[in-house]
Amino acid sequence: MISVDQALEKVLERIDVLGAEESPILNCLGQVLAEDIFSPINIPPLDNSAMDGYAVRSADTRGASRRSPCFLRVTETVTAGAIPKGEVKPGMAIRIMTGAPVPKGADCVVRFEDTDESEREGTPAEIGILQEIEAGRDIRPAGEDITAGSLVLRKGTVIRPAEVGVLASLGRGRVMVIRRPVVAILATGDELVDIAQPLPQGKIYNSNSYSVAALVLRYGAVPRILGIALDSEDSLVARLHLGRDADMVITSGGVSLGDYDIVREVLAKQGETIFWQVREKPGKPLVFGMLRGKGGKAKNIPLFGLAGNPVSAMINFELFARPAILKMMGRKNLAKPTVEAILADAIENTDGRRIFARVLVEKRGGQYLARLTGPQGSGVLTSMALANGLVVVPENKPGVKRGDLVKVMMLDWGEEVEQSVSKRRKV
Ligand code: AMP
Ligand code: MG
Repeated sequence: MISVDQALEKVLERIDVLGAEESPILNCLGQVLAEDIFSPINIPPLDNSAMDGYAVRSADTRGASRRSPCFLRVTETVTAGAIPKGEVKPGMAIRIMTGAPVPKGADCVVRFEDTDESEREGTPAEIGILQEIEAGRDIRPAGEDITAGSLVLRKGTVIRPAEVGVLASLGRGRVMVIRRPVVAILATGDELVDIAQPLPQGKIYNSNSYSVAALVLRYGAVPRILGIALDSEDSLVARLHLGRDADMVITSGGVSLGDYDIVREVLAKQGETIFWQVREKPGKPLVFGMLRGKGGKAKNIPLFGLAGNPVSAMINFELFARPAILKMMGRKNLAKPTVEAILADAIENTDGRRIFARVLVEKRGGQYLARLTGPQGSGVLTSMALANGLVVVPENKPGVKRGDLVKVMMLDWGEEVEQSVSKRRKV
């Protein structure tokens, strides 16, 4: 049986980065730029004022103080977006708003608070300057942020809100990005019923398709739910066919040793099985392989056969399908963040597998504390709902004790966790 690390290596070997497409910038969050972005313009385009005040010649403020102000003649007011009509000649000032272009002749801006404007009525015809101002003060020079012709964002950059803003500041509404993979999701099992249907006796709702689709969305790919296949070869082959133009196929169920566990056999006939069973708990029965694509020359499609147990399915998605999706999207950092935490409960490792135990991590007195979220059966999906991380117990360790420092792979990291954590405490 291969280790988690070997399995991930075998998966990533088979994953290629997808092609590029042009997309509106607001659709690109989390995607990777497929072109270098050069600026056609200076930003800001002109020297402009950093403050509300008066554009003047610094030489005209020489010797100014509160006791003996310098008085200048005000010729106009220039607002942001406008162009000054005149220039600032010696003895003159132009009233200027933040962001407005600095008029010719002026070499600095005097803030309102350094003038006597508050003592005057309306828009004054004359203004008193109350202190000396050096040249360049409160002027943002043209091109201060970005100079025309410069490389602003490199190919390979992950687009976050700041990058969306930078692109908009250049007037770019669309950019080339690596496209998002389409992930076909298929549940298998005679016992499954779709959530839109009433629940007959002996059946259960198909939850895996929804948890997996939500994970696919979270990591930036496009889920395509293919419904439920029965535990028969015909039904499975027919449904799988619907996913043959996707970039990835994820099935759940039917990968153990039961009489009806046919996914591995069908994959072997319809493509190639690369590995089955990984030294991990939960999720040992994972299958990975390549499904033949539609048509003769079509590319083969990576297929993850996740175990049916809802916790196993989610954890194996995080461990293997998530990095594969990110690699397809051109992302370089494929790892979840980890923290070191003090464990509040002991975890035994009886059969040399790597254990991923569901925990709630909280910060207590500057230290992370990890507590198990109750029973750890692979069918107990609420143990995932209560968790924000997975404690990793190495395969070569007989277990970890209460009070040990352990590595926790964080599933969630951010505001939404804190919120749900405080809600949980009240329960
Ligand atoms: P299997 O891997 O097919 O033997 O399934 C293992 C367990 O997971 C069984 O108890 C199944 O009923 C359950 N299971 C399988 N598929 C799903 C699903 N899509 N949603 C919820 N539970 C499932
Ligand atoms: Mg089954």
